Amino acid sequence: MVERLPERPDVVVVGAGAAGLAAARSLTEGGCTVLVLEAGPAIGGRCFAESDTFGVPFDHGGAWMHSAATNPLVPLAERAGFTIHKRPWTYGRVHISGRDLSGAEMRAYEDYLGVMWDAVDTPVPGGRDVAAADLLPESPWRDTARHWIAQFDSVDADQVSSGDRAAYENAEGDWLLAEGLGTLIARLGAKALVRLNCPVTAIDWSGHRIAVTTPDGSVETDKVVVTVSTGVLAAERIAFAPRLPDAKLDAIADLPTGLLNKAGLLLDSGALDVHEGYLADYHAGGEQFCSLLFGFCGTDLAVGFVAGRFGQELEAEGAGATTDFCLEGLRALFGSDAPKHVRKTHETAWMSNPLALGSYSAARPGRSQARPVLAEPIDGRLFFAGEATIPSAYATVHGAHLSGIEAARAILSLRD
Ligand SMILES: Cc1cc2nc3c(=O)[nH]c(=O)nc-3n(C[C@H](O)[C@H](O)[C@H](O)COP(=O)(O)OP(=O)(O)OC[C@H]3O[C@@H](n4cnc5c(N)ncnc54)[C@H](O)[C@@H]3O)c2cc1C
Repeated sequence: MVERLPERPDVVVVGAGAAGLAAARSLTEGGCTVLVLEAGPAIGGRCFAESDTFGVPFDHGGAWMHSAATNPLVPLAERAGFTIHKRPWTYGRVHISGRDLSGAEMRAYEDYLGVMWDAVDTPVPGGRDVAAADLLPESPWRDTARHWIAQFDSVDADQVSSGDRAAYENAEGDWLLAEGLGTLIARLGAKALVRLNCPVTAIDWSGHRIAVTTPDGSVETDKVVVTVSTGVLAAERIAFAPRLPDAKLDAIADLPTGLLNKAGLLLDSGALDVHEGYLADYHAGGEQFCSLLFGFCGTDLAVGFVAGRFGQELEAEGAGATTDFCLEGLRALFGSDAPKHVRKTHETAWMSNPLALGSYSAARPGRSQARPVLAEPIDGRLFFAGEATIPSAYATVHGAHLSGIEAARAILSLRD
């Protein structure tokens, strides 16, 4: 028998990802009764780790604590006794259009990547908001390096706003957790009252109280915090009555989810001459690009990354295509025998995951102001949190976490 939904919580939080769990925790600490409704079978959302697949933790989504120097998850991980890995990435090999780069060429490629990030992260004079692709300095490395923009932004350089990138606050350090970042998020959310496998299908805010509908029934509440991805919002998986204001709908459309997918590759121990943080890029031509990172937290796990339009093409081809391309890269980089040393593989498919419909948000060129509009509460009752709502840390786990705390703070301030 399905357990009845708790009656009349002060706040209903929609989604138990990093944002929803942080909101629930802050609201509970602030004295509210909170119910989190989560469509999936587990908490964590796009920050989810498990060890069943490879025998070591594998983060399907968010893994790095980016901007570690200022990342609020770092002290929480330390306090919870997690093992932090701080080793930076270093290039071991790069293979472009059929040949390996020499050591000197690899250094020149890396130098160009630094120049490229500076160019696309610096505000454009006059406050113009253009596509990042318009800012790429000329170089023989440009057509390969630009694919790193897709790996970070989930859309290709011609599809991402320079203003959005410039608003992001980057700080030193990209750190990993041996236990998985998803494990930390699950630990931090462990005390929240979460109803799993309970998709919200409608939010009726026409009356004095808000009615939140799920297949298990409806729950009435005073305030709702919506944390689902912009992909889910754009697909109208949740029916709002009255419908959301046009400005909010425009903001959702201006912040589409792009794609970053991972192919986990568990290698025979010591089979390849790689180490923790060893990085290799494979560019077969056109948009066919992947990066491979080895020795995750000192294990034999390597992860291949594909992104943007090409990542979507591979996912649309069907199961195995993402892994096959990463194995093609492994072969090109390490020789034809290298794939024989892959013991087990697993790939993500975030675009077709109905609870995410993409990996994370990217503002369209000219639309960098969409994030604050998405974050704006409606009527002091409907609140929005999640990675897409935070200009300084969008597309990250810590950004989602901070946005949840911010939504909770806004709600608690109304009770003071
Ligand atoms: C492949 C990949 C790699 C990444 N790498 C990094 C990284 O290294 N570092 C980093 O900081 N960030 C990374 N990110 C981004 C980061 O994971 C996300 O920004 C963050 O986890 C988003 O959290 P959120 O709470 O905003 O959204 P979500 O985690 O999506 O939470 C929303 C929740 O709502 C649920 N939901 C959906 N529809 C409904 C519904 N109708 N009713 C109820 N619940 C619903 C979902 O199941 C989900 O649990 C990565 C993401 C991906 C996909």
